[in-house]
Amino acid sequence: MKIHEYQAKELFRNHHIPVPEGNVAVSPDDACALAEKLGGFPVVVKAQIHAGGRGKGGGVKLARSLDEVQSAATAILGRPLVTPQTGPQGKKVRKLLVEQGLDIDQELYFSIIPDRSTAKIMIIASRAGGMDIEEVAAKDPDKIIRVLINPLTGIEPGHCKEIAAGLNLPDSLAGDFSTLVENLYGLFIETDCSLLEINPLVITAQETLVALDAKVEIDDNALFRQKDILKFRDTDEEDPLEVEASKYNLNYINLDGNIGNMVNGAGLAMATMDLIKSTGAEPANFLDVGGGADEEMVENGFRIILNDANVKGVLINIFGGILRCDVLAEGVVQAARKTGINVPVVIRLQGTNVEKGREILAASGLNLITAEDLNDAAGKITEIVGK
Ligand code: GDP
Ligand code: MN
Repeated sequence: MKIHEYQAKELFRNHHIPVPEGNVAVSPDDACALAEKLGGFPVVVKAQIHAGGRGKGGGVKLARSLDEVQSAATAILGRPLVTPQTGPQGKKVRKLLVEQGLDIDQELYFSIIPDRSTAKIMIIASRAGGMDIEEVAAKDPDKIIRVLINPLTGIEPGHCKEIAAGLNLPDSLAGDFSTLVENLYGLFIETDCSLLEINPLVITAQETLVALDAKVEIDDNALFRQKDILKFRDTDEEDPLEVEASKYNLNYINLDGNIGNMVNGAGLAMATMDLIKSTGAEPANFLDVGGGADEEMVENGFRIILNDANVKGVLINIFGGILRCDVLAEGVVQAARKTGINVPVVIRLQGTNVEKGREILAASGLNLITAEDLNDAAGKITEIVGK
């Protein structure tokens, strides 16, 4: 789950990680009132959306007076902000972070992620922080430091020293930096982060370290034990179909293609997406209704796919194990009755109660195209929809 910068900074404050003073605003007047409270200029006005690259898209503005705060807030709020990470349609800005502006001496990059290949926690840092870090990583990989931490033994002073040396930090900051890294690591572990990124982590003109930006993502599988963070969820920022699917515990991800697919089991779903691609077409979604799905889940899953305007055809690929084929068939029929099917649907069923499932589908009078095997199914739907 992604959270906003202002929320990540609240977590930072709770873990004694220095951040600029500031607060969240939902209107230009609000922004001005907050700026006044900060008691000095410049003030930074920052769009709060679940995407980075805001600086490049005009979503981070430095204001030197209340008038400038007013005009910056007016320019950013209520409109879509397009950044290199949002896609061309952008993301609508509903909230602003109004912060004290800092005098920056140096911009560093700092992040913590789980490294799956070593099963360790990886800290990544660089002296070349700021808005062009992706370019640095591509062209100047030597400027990126990586340190691996064994999650069982945790962070040790040697790790912090190694990163500080790699960043060429002055000795005067060594103590503060170690405390900062230890607190960030603590936050990462305690809140089950899948990503914690600060870009830039700045050294101010006053020689202090401050997290100027904050990006935190929480592992969805740990949300059951992160109730406080779950309150930060902002469904306005999420794909509406994905929000709908999450209500029914469906594993659904919206994609760019035009062939919707409903499958049981994540592995079979991946294989089905590969098959669709191998025929030259693109899947419109990933949907695993789950091994033990019931009729209602199937119905909701199918309805969500049919509600996606990009979907020009649907491929249902079910291997009846725990989810029996007749249960699947009932779910499909129910959804079709309620939503109406306006696109071709190819269906491939195998496994438990397959005959009964086919009978239910045949008796429904729905216009469904049956397929013999996986290749046949993917080929048929692509042929009908076109590539
Ligand atoms: P992002 O573009 O979405 O990553 O947004 P950031 O929060 O990283 O801000 C983008 C850039 O704005 C930073 O890299 C800084 O160069 C600049 N910036 C943000 N806050 C301040 C500030 O308080 N003072 C100054 N001088 N620049 C700032
Ligand atoms: Mn940033």
